Amino acid sequence: MAAMATCLIGLGSNLGEPDQNLDAAAAHLEKWDGAKQLHASDWVQTEPVGGPEGQSSFANGALRLETDRSPREVLEKLFETEQTLGRERRTRWGPRTVDLDLLLYDDLRLVEEGLTVPHPWMAIRRFVLQPAVQVAADMIHPEIGWTIGRLWENLQAANYIAVAGVSPGPVQETIATAVKSAGAILISAPANVESRPLENIKFPEALAGKSSKSSHFFFVSDFWKDKPVAEDPTPNLVVALENSVNLSEEQAREQENLYARLRKSGPFLFLDATDHDRLQHDLAAAISGMRSNT
Ligand code: ATP
Ligand code: MG
Ligand code: MG
Repeated sequence: MAAMATCLIGLGSNLGEPDQNLDAAAAHLEKWDGAKQLHASDWVQTEPVGGPEGQSSFANGALRLETDRSPREVLEKLFETEQTLGRERRTRWGPRTVDLDLLLYDDLRLVEEGLTVPHPWMAIRRFVLQPAVQVAADMIHPEIGWTIGRLWENLQAANYIAVAGVSPGPVQETIATAVKSAGAILISAPANVESRPLENIKFPEALAGKSSKSSHFFFVSDFWKDKPVAEDPTPNLVVALENSVNLSEEQAREQENLYARLRKSGPFLFLDATDHDRLQHDLAAAISGMRSNT
């Protein structure tokens, strides 16, 4: 018998009857001979994040299952299930009959055309972790090294995001705009943007001491507008900017080292700094996805 792997799959729907769509998707996967010992979470109702305005609420869920199939075969099965249930892809993060994402596949780390595992956004999406913690609290995110349970805890406390990068000038305004549009507050930033001071911010071990000495910059936003900044705020997410232009060789090397440490220090999200519209949109979506609906 082929070796078995444990998969975690995220489900979402906000068209037609979302709960029934997720029921149907789970039933379809249950019948698959590649799936064994399938455990389904409850379906939870969540508000849309990141997509076009005016979408209906989502039903979100998680499935844990054992499989003897490859990650690619699992993904193909998820696509087939989406097709069977009538999914059409129009706009990014737009309305969907059912979306099935491969979140984890054992401790595998994979970056291929059309398949990234762990799913890059899973660790900071409330709508993913809330159901996932029901069926996979003890599964480990192989890049961050935290359990799903701990990742979920991290969001319960979520107040702060740090943005790290080698200063590429105009990107600063983009970040300020994103933070504002997500209803968060920029509490620290370079001098040209309205901000509050950096001194109190406790960065993860990997970043400590970097902010003043080098050209790396950090922004930290407070998710709750009406709350004062904590005594020693610790970021619940570090967003790392990639592909900044005009880096010197030394800066590029420095950034590479920083990001290598970052990957092991807690939840992170890599965003492309070259496409400002996309960066602004994705950063706002990250903030909204982490924040509780209340
Ligand atoms: P998000 O991925 O941010 O949740 P989405 O689920 O709405 O957005 P889709 O339209 O379902 O995005 O998928 C876009 C592409 O993502 C697909 O073509 C698929 O190949 C790719 N993809 C990469 N990694 C994964 C993964 N782990 N699970 C599912 N799809 C993935
Ligand atoms: Mg998705
Ligand atoms: Mg998807």
